[in-house]
Amino acid sequence: MAKKGLLIVVSGFSGAGKGTLIRKLTEQHDHYVLSVSMTTRAPRAGEQDGREYFFSDVPRFTEMIDQNGFLEHAVYGGNHYGTPRAFVEEQLNAGKDVLLEIEVQGALQVKGRFPEALLIYVVTPSVEELRRRLEGRGTESKEVIEKRLKRAVDESDALEAYEYIVVNDDVTRCAEEIHGIVQGARCATARNKSFIEETRKALHEAFDH
Ligand code: 5GP
Repeated sequence: MAKKGLLIVVSGFSGAGKGTLIRKLTEQHDHYVLSVSMTTRAPRAGEQDGREYFFSDVPRFTEMIDQNGFLEHAVYGGNHYGTPRAFVEEQLNAGKDVLLEIEVQGALQVKGRFPEALLIYVVTPSVEELRRRLEGRGTESKEVIEKRLKRAVDESDALEAYEYIVVNDDVTRCAEEIHGIVQGARCATARNKSFIEETRKALHEAFDH
């Protein structure tokens, strides 16, 4: 079976709990690694450079784009966000399953470039719960929260581009559900073309005289 790791995109409404889910997955299964993105947005209280994000200014970000240093990149809320390419490629080659926590435009770029990538979308159990979680965070202004809720409306139009949708009603349950999806996806014939080819060849060699 495929020895390379799986590229897994996790998107979802802001406030759906993607970060917590991903942390849970990386804590519980050591074949998962999180790709740390680069962004031009300012760090929030408690965020550390190199942990939540690599914080960058616009010229450095643009230089990375010019050097083809991103697997994908997009603008969200007026700031740039991008996935540094080198880390992801290294980890996939080492057999790790790499999680990208990115928004829809970036996810669509990944899907275009890596058709075997697994795209999962996380939603809250209800619209009311989405608002409650965003307001409860206490890190954002009312204006930013409204913007993010509007963005959720736009993103919902692109949902069919994702292979799976999961409801984050309970972090432990939902993380295990995502893990199950990943295990299933690993066995998909579409992601094992060379294994199928090898199996076929071996069968022909052994039995087809
Ligand atoms: P936040 O500012 O709340 O940390 O992130 C805003 C949005 O940007 C979230 O939907 C998050 O998933 C997305 N995001 C974070 N990193 C990347 C990235 O590298 N590429 C893209 N396309 N989106 C990202």
